[in-house]
Amino acid sequence: VAKNNHIKGAQYYSSEKYEEIKKRALLEKELRIAIRENNFHLLYQPQYDLKTNRIVGVEALIRWEHQSLGIISPADFIPLAEEIGVISQLTEWVLAEACRQAVEWQQQGLPPIQIGINISPFLLGEEIITLVEETLHNTGLDAQFVDLEITESFMQDPEYAINILNRLKNIGVKLSIDDFGTGYSSLSYLGRLPMDNLKIDRSFIDGIKADNGMMVKTILDMANHLHVSVIAEGIETKEQLQFLRRFQCQIGQGYYFSRPVSSEEIKALFH
Ligand code: C2E
Ligand code: MG
Ligand code: MG
Ligand code: MG
Repeated sequence: VAKNNHIKGAQYYSSEKYEEIKKRALLEKELRIAIRENNFHLLYQPQYDLKTNRIVGVEALIRWEHQSLGIISPADFIPLAEEIGVISQLTEWVLAEACRQAVEWQQQGLPPIQIGINISPFLLGEEIITLVEETLHNTGLDAQFVDLEITESFMQDPEYAINILNRLKNIGVKLSIDDFGTGYSSLSYLGRLPMDNLKIDRSFIDGIKADNGMMVKTILDMANHLHVSVIAEGIETKEQLQFLRRFQCQIGQGYYFSRPVSSEEIKALFH
């Protein structure tokens, strides 16, 4: 056995691979602890009506602040949570906290705004229907203010997806397809999905300059035909915003307006 290799059973790992496995195991252990101890918080990114410049919603985005590892990005730990089977506990907390916050804002006199909540496609089954119903019941939030964001990867089994989405719609919540354009949606059943919004993925907003907005225009056109409104993600420049306005994109969010911020900062935006 070479000096740098570690033996695990009959397998030989390079030290790089070994470090990777160790890191993952550590993260997994820490994630389980974080869930037990509730070491998460939510930030909120405002969503603007591009015609009136009013805030019409916020997207709730989870943050994990670790004592020694620092802030860990959801892009890193959400896939892990899905893999090790703790995503439902995490989502339970996100849903409850986001809905509680929405009710608090309303009680504090903020105009009622929509709250976007990311739902892992792994969870889209019977379980999520009960969870959403119970959370709305427990927090007293009216279903119309909840916008569940679901990525296209859920649509791999369209018949099943449509059934679950219809049942979520029956509760009264709104539904958005997140990261639209990066997943697996087949255009043939897109029109059958009971969705309220398409969220154009940031990569297309980013690409407006390079492709003269061809992709964004195409998506806006299609959404228009499907009678769904469009939320543009990741608006960073004035040029992007002007383009989206010119082609009548309804809603936008991005660093140009605001980064994800605390609930207090959201409140301050209304004063
Ligand atoms: P997403 O749902 O597509 O959220 C948008 C991401 O883009 C957020 O990253 C947001 O901070 C970032 N963003 C917003 N505007 C801009 C911009 O102008 N420029 C750039 N470069 N980025 C922008 P974040 O918060 O790191 O979240 C990453 C992903 O993690 C989310 O993508 C979502 O898929 C997932 N995620 C976040 N919170 C949750 C959660 O509570 N539950 C689940 N299941 N997934 C979550
Ligand atoms: Mg999202
Ligand atoms: Mg997105
Ligand atoms: Mg995303």
